[in-house]
Amino acid sequence: MNLSGISIAELPKIGAIFSQRLKKLGIRTISDLLFYFPFRYDDLRNITTIRHLRLNEVQNFRAKIELIANKRTARKRMTITEALIADETGQIKVVWFQQPYLAKALIIGQYYLFSGKIVHDRFGLLLSNPTFEPLKKETIHTGRIVPVYPLCAGISQKQFRMILNAALPYRTRLRDWLPHEIKARRHLLDLQGAIKEIHFPTDESNLHYAKKRLQFDEMFFLQLKTQSLVQLRRKTKALPIPFHQHRIQQFIASLPFQLTNDQKKGAWAIVKDLEKEKPMNRLLEGDVGSGKTVVAAIGLVQCFINGFQGVLLAPTEILAQQHFRSFQKLFHRPRWSIGLLTRSSCDIFPDAVSFQNQSLKKKRKILLEKILRNEINLVVGTHALLEDKIRFGKCGLAIIDEQHRFGVRQRKALTEKSGTDFHQPHLLSLTATPIPRSLTLTAYGDLDCSILKEKPPDRKPILTSLVSESERQTAYRFIDSRIEKGEQAFVVCPLISESDVLGVKSVNEVASRLEKTEFSHRNIAMIHGKLKNKEKENVMKKFLDREIDLLVATSVIEVGIDVANATIMMIEDGERFGLSQLHQFRGRVGRGERQAYCFVFSNSFFSDSKRRLSAFVSCDDGFALAEKDLEMRGPGEMYGTMQSGLPELKIADLRDHELLMATKKESQQLFEDDPDLSRYPMIKRHIDLWLSSIHLE
Ligand code: ADP
Ligand code: MG
Repeated sequence: MNLSGISIAELPKIGAIFSQRLKKLGIRTISDLLFYFPFRYDDLRNITTIRHLRLNEVQNFRAKIELIANKRTARKRMTITEALIADETGQIKVVWFQQPYLAKALIIGQYYLFSGKIVHDRFGLLLSNPTFEPLKKETIHTGRIVPVYPLCAGISQKQFRMILNAALPYRTRLRDWLPHEIKARRHLLDLQGAIKEIHFPTDESNLHYAKKRLQFDEMFFLQLKTQSLVQLRRKTKALPIPFHQHRIQQFIASLPFQLTNDQKKGAWAIVKDLEKEKPMNRLLEGDVGSGKTVVAAIGLVQCFINGFQGVLLAPTEILAQQHFRSFQKLFHRPRWSIGLLTRSSCDIFPDAVSFQNQSLKKKRKILLEKILRNEINLVVGTHALLEDKIRFGKCGLAIIDEQHRFGVRQRKALTEKSGTDFHQPHLLSLTATPIPRSLTLTAYGDLDCSILKEKPPDRKPILTSLVSESERQTAYRFIDSRIEKGEQAFVVCPLISESDVLGVKSVNEVASRLEKTEFSHRNIAMIHGKLKNKEKENVMKKFLDREIDLLVATSVIEVGIDVANATIMMIEDGERFGLSQLHQFRGRVGRGERQAYCFVFSNSFFSDSKRRLSAFVSCDDGFALAEKDLEMRGPGEMYGTMQSGLPELKIADLRDHELLMATKKESQQLFEDDPDLSRYPMIKRHIDLWLSSIHLE
């Protein structure tokens, strides 16, 4: 793999400007280039003639431009480019929509290679929106299976293929990192061959094996990383926190409700885990409103009564504040002390008057000192917790709420901050976005799961409906009648302000329209990510105090917000959100006793958006929706790429169960045979590099 040292500038015809463009794609070295894979292939091996074209099939043929011109449709806005093309066997009409420049770009009398579908309309046979390429003899572009790459402006497919072709001979310097035994056992191509075939496949079968080999590599390394974390965790110890049955029962008896069976089971698993010397690594999954907080609280109580602290990390300021308040209620008697630390606020409960009068800086100093002296039982906070110079007196349990919003680094940072050189705290993660089991195993290693399937008994189902544009006014009137009764509503939009995404609803636009029209007699406010934290906090407080009837928001309200008096969730451009996200929005209402409603608006005419939205309307089970989301959109889209904590894969698919299992088995075997990886120096170097990259100083 010493190719990673060779810059692409070594290749012929790559100047400074082109290098810059390649850099945008993340390509700096020849190795980057060789591992930049096509996202699709065009099979240009079979070239047919116009006379032999078949209907409704993508086909390739050579033809000459006979005529070409632009035309405007009666409904003005549309420009159509029409051409007549011909070969020795016949002629056919071609049309392109909204690409007027084509009339100039394509030259009459010249031959091109066309690729597209022939359709039949009332004027006869027609080639609609074909791709085309000038006809040349180079075999890397035509007459073969041709790779198509994800590129950016300023790089054409053709240029990129030429560069790759020039880089390809360097593959002989690649050293194959995969042990021979594994390659033999799994029938895998060698690396050099796979690289050649993934870019310029000789045929489908070779392409298949090239993909298989490279997918294996990617997933195998993912599993090795997970396994290496598992190995590390095996070496770390936690302090056992004994279970005092009586005191825990007392706490449970003090709650204003009965725990559901699932809550009891979850809590039991946690209190048992805490007693062990092995650090707990448990994921508590439960649909919105299933009551995860109180289960986590039981674990915390076990810490407190044994003199340990707890820390809870939340993804947003609003959520941290809310936890701070709800724990105050939960930990009322006996009164455990709670600290709140976010970028813009700092608080202590129960507080001393003298504390409230201090500046933020001073408050922070006081809180940090108290945490270090073990005088604060529970610390609640946001990312600020990870950045601050916070040191704990004696932390026993770290909790991550909405864990899918955090990555490996942040999880690791939290346990490192709250642990000591010798001990790690126990770790509990909470999530309402259920993650299929195979994914949790890959992404997080030896994770134990508890699931809250059962909802608290008093919950009424939320009446959900898909609303068409013509029913909008009726929906508004209904919503207004609920507001009249003192209830409150959310309106969620995909964007903050009008932007170049044409026709997509934004918070600013919707709020100002509603203020001027249907809801001019109501109090309307906005909340979104661009507001300062203080402003957001203010708006939320006003909403909680019922000073606001209608809150127009972006997805910032997606996670965890709890306003019992809000009964209506209105979602604009519903197709722009994932199923799990929609379900999260819906979970913001129906938290009180009154009947709650969710209205989804959508103008999308795409059948898969329609399918997704009707799945949402008819299904109330967050787990089922998550599975569907995963199936329909894939993990990257579903969890978002940046914050998901799930790996971004280039070529393998996390849904590929067979590959997951095969690579898991091989990686476990490898560590079993050779825990220090001393026989596999290339693998070891790769893993060490990764471990040091996630290790925060
Ligand atoms: P989530 O799982 O979405 O984080 P919360 O923990 O915020 O849900 O709980 C939602 C609401 O349900 C809270 O107001 C909580 O007090 C209440 N709750 C939790 N468990 C029960 C229960 N067993 N019976 C009744 N209400 C409950
Ligand atoms: Mg919650």
